[in-house]
Amino acid sequence: MTDNYGRKIDYMRVSITDRCDLRCRYCMPEGCEKVSMAQILTYEEIERICRAAAGLGINRIKITGGEPFVRLGCIDLIRNIKAINGIDEVTVTTNGQTLDRYINELKEIGIDGVNISLDTLDPEKFAYITGGGKLERTVRSIGLSAAAGLKTKVNCLLQRSFNEDEIFDMAGLAFEHGIDVRFIEIMPVGAGYSSRGISNDEVLRRLRERWPDLEPDSSVHGNGPAVYYRREGAAGAIGFISALSGKFCSDCNRVRLTSQGQLKPCLCYEAGTDLRPYLAGTDDELKEAIRAAILEKPEEHCFDEKHFEDDGRTEHRLMSQIGG
Ligand code: SAM
Ligand code: SF4
Repeated sequence: MTDNYGRKIDYMRVSITDRCDLRCRYCMPEGCEKVSMAQILTYEEIERICRAAAGLGINRIKITGGEPFVRLGCIDLIRNIKAINGIDEVTVTTNGQTLDRYINELKEIGIDGVNISLDTLDPEKFAYITGGGKLERTVRSIGLSAAAGLKTKVNCLLQRSFNEDEIFDMAGLAFEHGIDVRFIEIMPVGAGYSSRGISNDEVLRRLRERWPDLEPDSSVHGNGPAVYYRREGAAGAIGFISALSGKFCSDCNRVRLTSQGQLKPCLCYEAGTDLRPYLAGTDDELKEAIRAAILEKPEEHCFDEKHFEDDGRTEHRLMSQIGG
């Protein structure tokens, strides 16, 4: 459907759990608030919301979290969402720690893409930034996913004085292994508020100094706001998701469903519609609630403004709680 600013909203990111087996420093360094399973949408409820959203023109779903693969039965949910009439594409975002166990099933389901987060190729730095993660597990998952023929993308968050020296190595994964590597600017949400990210303008400038043949790539790579560049003859491309330096709100096509059932029209603000009460009603009532929530989508984020009246944040929940 079209929102109040003429944007076509056709993509929903669905967080199926707040929990995670890692503790990334910019996401949930101290873990997340314990909520009982009773507060978390059941798979049946998530499917019902996806079906209602499909009736409004949402045709692409991203399964995210927290870490989706820590929730039991996640594969069955993906299979069921994939089967919903009107849903053309289902993808998943994961830290890759246990993905290797699910690759065959994801392939059999016909998953449309797997995004794997990887910020560094140094095992100690990986363990540090993820709060104990094992680099070799994520790297193995990336290899297996690509080898299985799944559309595999790597998401990399760069931080000043932490991994900026790895820009070329990370970008090199795209040229050497044929997978897309996307640099994502850290957003001031949750723990990311105190991280020192790097502007993608700078990342692109540095990459072009090293590889002057890096050219804009207009072929379609996915659902979202990433802008891609490619080198002649290279199989993989470099993507830039620049919510801060390249504000893309006028093209924003997405809403988010939190694991507790809030439909959140913009990442920046805490506002949203709790869909749980509507789950007790009819499908039409649920659909109407989703439509109304989409019409509440603001024109743009305000991450670039200072909010002196508060503690500077506009969204206090963690990225893992709102389905980053
Ligand atoms: N656990 C999965 C993962 O790490 O891919 C899925 C959930 S995680 C919240 C989704 C994505 O959000 C990851 O690529 C992660 O790096 C990114 N992320 C987390 N905090 C962020 C922040 N403050 N700004 C930008 N991206 C963030
Ligand atoms: Fe977990 Fe992903 Fe957040 Fe890292 S970014 S703590 S892997 S949810």
